[in-house]
Amino acid sequence: MSTPDYPFANPPAPASTIEVAPGVHWLRMVLPFQLDHINLWLLEDGSKENPSWLMIDTGLGDEPTRALWERIFADKIGATPVKRVLVTHYHPDHAGNAAWLCGRTRAELWMTRGEYLTAHAARHGAAGYSTEAQIALFQANGLDEERSKELLVRGDLYRALVPEFPMSHRRLHDGERIFVGGRGWRVIVGHGHAPEHVSLHCEELNLLISGDMLLPRISTNVAVRPIDPWSNPLRLFLESIARYRDLPEDVLVLPSHGLPFRGAHARIAQLETHHQQRLAELQLACVASPRTAAEVLEILFRRKLDNSQIFFAMGEAIAHLHYLQYEGKLARTVGADGVARFAPG
Ligand SMILES: [Zn+2]
Repeated sequence: MSTPDYPFANPPAPASTIEVAPGVHWLRMVLPFQLDHINLWLLEDGSKENPSWLMIDTGLGDEPTRALWERIFADKIGATPVKRVLVTHYHPDHAGNAAWLCGRTRAELWMTRGEYLTAHAARHGAAGYSTEAQIALFQANGLDEERSKELLVRGDLYRALVPEFPMSHRRLHDGERIFVGGRGWRVIVGHGHAPEHVSLHCEELNLLISGDMLLPRISTNVAVRPIDPWSNPLRLFLESIARYRDLPEDVLVLPSHGLPFRGAHARIAQLETHHQQRLAELQLACVASPRTAAEVLEILFRRKLDNSQIFFAMGEAIAHLHYLQYEGKLARTVGADGVARFAPG
């Protein structure tokens, strides 16, 4: 199989579901961003005598999402209890409604420790998860005053989109097998997009719930963040997706954005090629003259970026330069202006 293949031509309509495999139901929530939707998964859990539901991811913690959830509760969930809410990672479109859903259903929250604590840190602007720390990192990588100010005005969206968050969690671990409706699902923890992102593989159903780690059409955002400003998240990401090669070539991938697809191995290869091409271009640009991350944005993205895109793009540009630095292909020097530039060592 050379290119990804999409067995479902259309996504479910708002507040409706599609059963993509026995006991695995697909629903969508609207996002008010350029990326305008997120896929969520409802799994039949428990036994015939004692059925229940497990939800995977929650949508933003806003009124439109909650209104759609109410329709799902009325039409689909009914009187069957929801016992578990599993959140793949802390990003607002995945975690935003966790507290509301857990409160409404009295379900347990299942998450890795890294994602759970990061959600709390991001809500409180702690451990570098503040707009100010983010802008300081961007400025140390060449972002100009004007664009920095615009980002500051945009402010901290996380708390607005994740208005509350549960005070306890059931901790998930890499390699652990959890049972849902009697079927085993293996937890695969991946890095580079979020600290300890969870994907789930069910051998029996030949399914991978990939979260944001393997998407069919867009490449996952990989960004350096102020909590560890010297990190190499692109290496972590590429190592993480390479692990999916252990899964069968024809595994049906259920991603958080876009349509379910088969052809995971081909998609991994595409993403590797994509990043290697970008890395080669950045390296070449830095050979011509030392560059900051801000100065390579146009090489990396080839289009004019608005404010919300700048936020993701800067993190991504720094990540690519760090990758080249850790490979020994570029050296990082900080000038008298406090700005990091990358050039052959
Ligand atoms: Zn994400």
